[in-house]
Amino acid sequence: MDEIIRVEKIAKHYGSTEALSGVSFSVQQGEVIGLLGPNGAGKTTLMKILTGYLQPDQGQVFIDGIDILEHPSEVQSRVGYLPENAPMYPELTVQSYLRMIAELRQVDESKRDHLIASAVKAVKLEDKLVTPIGNLSKGYRQRVGIAQAILHRPKLLILDEPTNGLDPTQIVEVRKLIRSLAGESTVLLSTHILSEVEATCSRAIIIMNGKVRADARLEELSESSAAILSLESNISDLESVKAELKKLPDVTDIRHYSSQGREVIEIHTGSDRDICPELFKLAAKHNWPVTELRHTERTLETVFNELAREDVSQ
Ligand code: ADP
Repeated sequence: MDEIIRVEKIAKHYGSTEALSGVSFSVQQGEVIGLLGPNGAGKTTLMKILTGYLQPDQGQVFIDGIDILEHPSEVQSRVGYLPENAPMYPELTVQSYLRMIAELRQVDESKRDHLIASAVKAVKLEDKLVTPIGNLSKGYRQRVGIAQAILHRPKLLILDEPTNGLDPTQIVEVRKLIRSLAGESTVLLSTHILSEVEATCSRAIIIMNGKVRADARLEELSESSAAILSLESNISDLESVKAELKKLPDVTDIRHYSSQGREVIEIHTGSDRDICPELFKLAAKHNWPVTELRHTERTLETVFNELAREDVSQ
């Protein structure tokens, strides 16, 4: 498969605010990537850099193998971008707005009508062509925004918070639309909503405080799980408990934090098998003061919460 995005160690500051630091990842053609992170994490900054609207202070970005800093206009012809608050012209009809965009993007005149018609068809706006944008519902306006992003048939589609501010019905429609576009283009969308990624994406990149904290295919996540073992805080030798836990088969990671007077240990495994029966025997053998023992599925939500907790404790 071809690589459509390669980001190498980019950093970006706004004055003394470090919006991104040491961000690296790559994306293959055909993937649908969810860029997930709390508000202020750096998602919009990263997207603006990928579209060439903003330059990083450090690092390199290649889109479809082309260096964005050296050939920005070649990159922009390959990328479609829906900014978070896309500027719209309320007095223009959908058709005249898309014609204006085609002209601005210097789309070949002979191809304009055809490209506009196919973008309009893709987002199902045929009935609204002569409606002024200002008279459309927010869901329809978002479709206009997506139509302008796909107008020039970009290989890469970048959507910043595409369902923000929509009602539940509109959200379902826009997510369906995004999935249908994913066949034509590689899609990278940002969101702070976990379920959005689960509903639309094949892979999630979690960004917090300007750094990539996790990068996982959603399929892989469902193939792993964790057991939660809580012990009374008067446990004398936590390190030897952790050492015993590490010896169990399938264990990939042990994490520990203190909560509400308990020592909580998460035992991560590379399978969805429930290891609680083994843990129970081990705890009985060593007389550990257990207050809770349970198995949890590993989901995007559990990963996100683990990272958020680590961020707070750092
Ligand atoms: P997100 O899209 O994840 O909400 P942003 O990329 O918008 O995050 O912002 C990342 C950080 O950079 C935040 O701390 C934000 O306040 C700051 N920031 C973003 N844009 C600017 C700007 N133009 N000037 C100064 N600080 C900015």
